[in-house]
Amino acid sequence: MRRAADPERRPLERADVAQFLERATRALERHRELLDRLDAALGDGDHGENMATGFRAVIDALPAMPERDLGALLRSIGQVLVASVGGASGPLYGTAFIEAGFALGAAERLDTNRVADALEAGVRGLARRGRCAVGDKTILDALEPAARAFRAAVNDGAAEDGALVRAAWAARAGMRSTTPLVARRGLALRLGERSRGHQDPGATSCFLLVRAMIPSRRAAGAAEPAIPARNEAPGHDTGEPAS
Ligand SMILES: [Mg+2]
Repeated sequence: MRRAADPERRPLERADVAQFLERATRALERHRELLDRLDAALGDGDHGENMATGFRAVIDALPAMPERDLGALLRSIGQVLVASVGGASGPLYGTAFIEAGFALGAAERLDTNRVADALEAGVRGLARRGRCAVGDKTILDALEPAARAFRAAVNDGAAEDGALVRAAWAARAGMRSTTPLVARRGLALRLGERSRGHQDPGATSCFLLVRAMIPSRRAAGAAEPAIPARNEAPGHDTGEPAS
């Protein structure tokens, strides 16, 4: 794709959303077993399979989705996620995309402020749909700090890529913060105190999605967050190393 003189300030377009979806789907497929394993400890062990299947369905449906209207595009993506991601995560992620889409109206190009608006609308939608708050050991524990870090970076004058890297690091910290928490929503509720010591699978998939927003041209040499290696997280299985 042809880029403007300052690529970091180039507004986001449909092609960027499509590339995000490709990176997100690859990341979910690569970490499918990890997500299933995390979900086996707290839920029913299918989060990786559900997410990989649902995002593959979005990729398959993408050619028939709106061409330029990014709000309508995100709403279409959300509807496919609601229909295609099994378990509670479909309605939660789906609602986040749908609400982000409503926040964008019919915009065809997004600057960083609009991206921040979309992330914040996604946070509000997910919190409302899941009736959850930060600290409940859910997707929101990664998504809310990511949206907050992105907005703060934009307010600091950061360009898109830098703001996304900061958001991904915040999502990673939020993901890891779920390990000592007792679950207050979802299937893990039934475990009570025994839900402590396990990283939340939804917060983990959310970290992967936020990190997938970083354009791949940054991949070489950029300080991007990785899934923690086993030796960084004693006492529970967080699986794979970088990427
Ligand atoms: Mg499940």
